[in-house]
Amino acid sequence: MIKENLNRVQENIRNACARAGRKEDEVTLIAVSKTKPVSMLEEAYALGVRDFGENKVQELVDKAGQLPEDIRWHMIGHLQRNKVKYIIDKVYLIHSVDSLRLAEEISKEAVKHGVTANILIEVNVAGEESKFGVSPEDTPGLIEEISRLPAIQVRGLMTIAPFVEKAEDNRIIFNALLKLYVDISRKNIDNVHMDFLSMGMTGDYEVAVEEGATFVRVGTGIFGERSYRITE
Ligand SMILES: *Cc1c(COP(=O)(O)O)cnc(C)c1O
Repeated sequence: MIKENLNRVQENIRNACARAGRKEDEVTLIAVSKTKPVSMLEEAYALGVRDFGENKVQELVDKAGQLPEDIRWHMIGHLQRNKVKYIIDKVYLIHSVDSLRLAEEISKEAVKHGVTANILIEVNVAGEESKFGVSPEDTPGLIEEISRLPAIQVRGLMTIAPFVEKAEDNRIIFNALLKLYVDISRKNIDNVHMDFLSMGMTGDYEVAVEEGATFVRVGTGIFGERSYRITE
């Protein structure tokens, strides 16, 4: 099942790239494996998947300890400051930074571990009450503040789009995030070189690719249903 699902998702990404005149290698598929057993991740790994996304610190750490070292782990869920220390030397990219205090903690732990932390700013584009993330208006200021911290590198933006029936309805959200990303890139903030745009999930990743996503985060479309859509 994972094999067929993965093939279909990869094919859809290829087609979306072709429609948008983008190169296929501009887009990385993150297999969102939260709640799924290690055996399923092993199956995806055997099929060539190297980017996995998890939303809980404990689960990420457990799985990372049981799987090959060349996996790139993406922390995509809300991150509490007191848990940063457990993942700082295990994650490739933290997608969910939405406050200066969290960034300061990440910076502090990165210095301590002698690594550079790569992060994305989570933006709440639609202004949904139920979601984490910074408002688009506050994003440039936050990035400027973070850019002054040591051992932390802002690499781009991430959003979780609203749950919609029709994927097309999220096009304006993805396009708004792309515009914000371009605007901020043009500011040439010292120490900030943005190259990642993390947007699109099972329901809407093709639209996200058409609008410029460099990472899409697909769970259900690869591993099948979970008993819930998102927990943060
Ligand atoms: C669970 C989750 C996903 C994947 O959701 P699917 O709809 O199963 O593809 C993507 N991003 C985040 C932040 C998530 O928590």
